[in-house]
Amino acid sequence: MADTNIIELVNVSKSYDNNTEVIKDINLQIKEGEFVTLLGPSGCGKTTILRMIGGFDSPTTGKILLDGKDISPLTPDKRPVNTVFQKYALFPHLNVYDNIAFGLNLKGVSKAECDEKVKNVLDIVDLEGFEERQINTLSGGQQQRIAIARAIVNEPKVLLLDEPLSALDYKMRKEMQLELKSMHKLLGITFIFVTHDQEEALTMSDKVVVLADGMIQQVGTPEDIYNEPANVFVADFIGESNIFNGTMLEDKKASFAEAVFQTVDDYPRGTKIDAVIRPEDVDIVKPGEGQLQGVVTSVDFKGTFYVTFVQCGQYEMEVHCFELHHENEEVGLKIDPDMIHIIKYDMTLNHYEGRIVNVLEKTVELKFADALVEMPVTAICDGKFTISNGELMDSGKNAVDLNELILDVSFDPAKAQLSDNAKDGMVSGEIVSFYYIGDHYSYTVRSKNDIDYVVDDEYLWNQGDKVGIIVPRNLIRTAL
Ligand code: ADP
Repeated sequence: MADTNIIELVNVSKSYDNNTEVIKDINLQIKEGEFVTLLGPSGCGKTTILRMIGGFDSPTTGKILLDGKDISPLTPDKRPVNTVFQKYALFPHLNVYDNIAFGLNLKGVSKAECDEKVKNVLDIVDLEGFEERQINTLSGGQQQRIAIARAIVNEPKVLLLDEPLSALDYKMRKEMQLELKSMHKLLGITFIFVTHDQEEALTMSDKVVVLADGMIQQVGTPEDIYNEPANVFVADFIGESNIFNGTMLEDKKASFAEAVFQTVDDYPRGTKIDAVIRPEDVDIVKPGEGQLQGVVTSVDFKGTFYVTFVQCGQYEMEVHCFELHHENEEVGLKIDPDMIHIIKYDMTLNHYEGRIVNVLEKTVELKFADALVEMPVTAICDGKFTISNGELMDSGKNAVDLNELILDVSFDPAKAQLSDNAKDGMVSGEIVSFYYIGDHYSYTVRSKNDIDYVVDDEYLWNQGDKVGIIVPRNLIRTAL
C-alpha cells in the first residue's frame, strides 16, 4: 500500500431537495491500494458517499479529490473509478463474454485485446471458460463475480462496491468475502466497500470508517474500532458490548454497576463516563470472588461458546464463556482493568440554547430547542432572578433585557421519560436510535425540526416509534 492519498473528501456535505443534510461536513482520506469499508446502519449515508465518488451525485459543498485533483467536473465515465452494485445489473440478453466486454467495445478496444482482457478477469474471479454462458444459467454468486469482472476489466484505479454481497446466502457470502480480499491483493487497486454488516467490515478491511447519521464516528483499523471504540455508538454497533453509566472516583478507579473497578484510563475524580466491556472479557468466577456478584438468568450455546446472562442487582451483564453454567447459579464476575474501556460521557448531550420569552406573575415562559415550558422564576439559574411588576429582575434588582439573556438549558437523560402519546410532555419526536446500558436503554429522539434529545428509559421501544418526552419542570436546569 502506498502512502499517498488517492481519494480525499474535503468538508463534503450533501443535501437533497428537502434540504435535510444527509452528509454533514465529512473529511476522509483514502490511501492508494487500501481496502476501505464504509460501515453504518441503513440510511447513514454510505451509498451517497459512494455515489459522489463515482460521479453519480455531487456534493452540495466541499470537494472530492482524486490524486490531489478536484474531480467534480468529471462525469462518471471519465473517472478512473468503477462501481459494483448490490443488484448485479448484468444484461440478461447478453452472454458472459458480452457482458464483460461491453465497456471495452464502447471504447473501441480490438477483438484480440478484448479476448485477452476478458480471459484475464474471468481467471481473477475464478470463472475460467465461462465466456459463452448465458446470465440466467448462473448462480447468484457467479453473477456477482461477473459483475466484479465487468467492473475490473476497465482497470480502474478505484473499485467501489455497494453492498455487493448482500443478496448472497451466508455460506456464499463468507466465501466471496475471502475471494474479494484475495482479488484486492492480486489487483493492488483501491477498494471502497460499503456494508451495514460489522462482521463483514472487520473481516475484510484495512481501514473501517464508521458512519452514523451522515457523520463519521470513527476511522481506524478493525482492531482499533473493536478494541478502542471512540464513542458509545461505535461500541454498541460493533460487536456485542456491555455499557454502564458511571463516575471516575480517582485516576484509574471507576464506579459503575454499584461496584468499584480498577481501570487503565486516567480521568479526574468526578468525570462522568460510560464503561464498555466486551462479553468475552468477563470471567465467571466463584461466588464471593470478582468485583460483581450475580445470578445466571439464561444460557445459550452458540457452537463454540455460551452466551450467559448474569443479573447483578439491577444490572445485567452478557458474558461469553466456554464453560457451561446453569440458570439460577450464583456466580462472581471478574473484569481485568485493561478489559474496561472508559469513554468520557458527552457533556453536550441535551444542552440547548434557551431564552425567556414571557414574564408572568410568578413564572416565566422558557423557550429552548423546540420546547416552550412555563417555569417558576425561582427555578431559573438557581434563583438568580425575581419578578417585579411583570419584569424580570437580576440579583442586583435591575430589570433584565430578555433579548440579551441567553441561557444554557439542559436536562439529565435519566430524569426524562418517554410517553407513547406524542402529545404528552414538552416535545414529541421519533426514536432514531437506541442502545442498552446495563439496566436501561438510552434513546435518541429526533423532533420534526431535526433536534435530538436523549432519554433513558427502562422499557424497550422501537426505532421509528413516535413518542412524547416528559421532563419534570423542576429537573430542567438553566445556567447563564
Ligand atoms: P445508506 O447507504 O447508508 O443506507 P443512503 O446514502 O442511501 O444511506 O441514504 C442516506 C440518506 O439520504 C437517507 O436518509 C436517504 O433517505 C436519503 N436519500 C438518499 N438518496 C436520496 C434522494 N435521491 N433524495 C432524497 N433523499 C435521499
